[in-house]
Order: sequence, then C-alpha cells, then structure tokens
Amino acid sequence: MPSKNPSVGEALRAASQTLKKNGIEDHRFEAEYLLAFILKIKRHELFLRPDRVLSAAEGRLLSAYVKKRSLREPLQYITGETEFRGITFKVSRAVLIPRPETEILVDEAIKAAPAGAFIALDICAGSGCIAISLAKEVPLCRVFATDISKDALTAARENASVAGVEERITFLEGSLFDPLKTLDLEGKAALILSNPPYVSTEEMKKLPQEIKGFEPRSSLWGGADGLRFFRRIVKDAPKYLIGKGRLIMEMGYGQAAGVRKIIEASGEFTGIEVKKDLSGIERIISATRVMPSSKKAKGRMRGSFHFPA
Ligand code: GLN
Repeated sequence: MPSKNPSVGEALRAASQTLKKNGIEDHRFEAEYLLAFILKIKRHELFLRPDRVLSAAEGRLLSAYVKKRSLREPLQYITGETEFRGITFKVSRAVLIPRPETEILVDEAIKAAPAGAFIALDICAGSGCIAISLAKEVPLCRVFATDISKDALTAARENASVAGVEERITFLEGSLFDPLKTLDLEGKAALILSNPPYVSTEEMKKLPQEIKGFEPRSSLWGGADGLRFFRRIVKDAPKYLIGKGRLIMEMGYGQAAGVRKIIEASGEFTGIEVKKDLSGIERIISATRVMPSSKKAKGRMRGSFHFPA
C-alpha cells in the first residue's frame, strides 16, 4: 500500500489485488464488501466518492481484514454479522453462519403455519436465525429453541433481543429435544424445524477451509453418514407434534433419499415434500404428522400399532 493514505479507489485496488494473490476468487467483491463495512456505507456508495481518502485507522482495519480473509476466515466472521431474511444477525465462531438456503426452510415453515396462535420448536438453533425470523414474520407463534452449545445460545439470545422477539422465544441448552422434556410440550407443537449438523465424515474432509477451519464442527458433523441427527429428530418429533403438525428439516447434497427413508420408516408421517435450493440441490424436507386417529385405524388393521400414551 502507498505510504500516504489511499483513496477509496486505491484502497480497493490494493485490497483486491492482495486477495487475488491469496487465491480468493471473488476478490473484487470481497474487497468492496469489507471496505463498505468499515466505512459503514452500502457497497454501491463506494463509487459515489471514489476519491474520498481513508483515515489511517480505516486503512489499518482494511489491512487487518484483508489479512484475515487471506487466511480464509469467512467474511461474516470478520465483520461479525450477516443478513438472513432481511434481518442482521450477529455471528461469531460459536455459531454456524446462516446460509441463504436456510431461508427456504423458513418459507416452508411460514406456509405450513396455522392461522392462529401456535407453538414451534427449533432444534439445533445455532445463531437463532430460524427461530428469530419465524417469530418476527409470524407474530402469533411462540418458539422453543434448543442448542447444545451455551455460546451459541448466548449469541442467539442477543440476536433475538436485537430483533425484538425475545419475549416469544425460549432458548434452552441441551441436546435436541432433551431440554424440552420437563416443559409439558408433548403433542403441542404445530411446527418442528431443524437445520441439524448433517455433514458426513467423508464430506467433512472435502469442506473448504472457510468452513472446516472456522465454523463449529459440532454444528456441521452429522455422524459417519451425516444422517445421525435426522434419525434422532424423526424418532422424537412425533411425540411433540400435534396431529397434522409439520416437521421441516434442512439436509445436505444427496441426502434426500436417505432422509425420506428415515421419515417413511417411522410410520408417523405423511405428505413428504422436498424443496430444492437455488442451486437445484434437494435441500428442505417436510412431512406432516399422521393424525393420531387415522393412524390408530390403520394400526388396528395391521394389528401392530401401539397408540402413544
Ligand atoms: N450447509 C452447511 C455447509 O455448507 C452445513 C450445515 C449443516 O450441517 N447444517 O456445509
């Protein structure tokens, strides 16, 4: 970088070059993203005043960020925030960075939401992006959100409070449904939502350094075949769902057939639907809880069904 303070245009060129040299594919976009964040302006506003000179502090910050990014730290951890369904979420290395494909899960949840007041569960809530955007977009819902990580819950609570929905979400620490056991929620949830860890051992090895080196392993790894958490969620979800309640989960590339099988094998669900993400990958799977009465009838015919207490 030149010794005198650079202009926006000069700083962008230098930052972009350094990122390019370090193998960052979208180097120009990322340089703009980082500088706009530092200057607290929108990216396009950089071009309204390309001659504006950076202060020494701004220049130092840009160099520091470019260095972090060159070491493959995701942009969102560097800036400490990301957008999800129009809401700004704080993100730290304690939480998985909310992904655009998870927005589709929220779409499906909103479509399946009952008209009146209802209860939703968010299992493996992480940053809280699912629970919080649902609470924000559907005012009559009450959400119980669980996560095994205390640090993730701290981040999620803060995000809920910034979004102004903290009174309608209860965040609970523990594995999957465990922290809900004492809350008398059985048979009461209209929606169960989850973006569980689903990366298989084999796929973990292939993840880009941005993910592998920075995002929490506990929010990525889904056991040897990546399906461990789907098995556990599908096993416990029926107990918590009301009749016709809907289970909606995010899954990874190539997992749709496996997850469908797990859901079908449980015998507790009907109406399985799979939605693709913007890359055409089957990403979101939804299934409706069989009405206890219709199930009972079917079970009687087969003579093998035990009606849950
Ligand atoms: N979508 C994440 C990825 O890019 C995985 C998230 C998850 O396991 N739930 O690998």
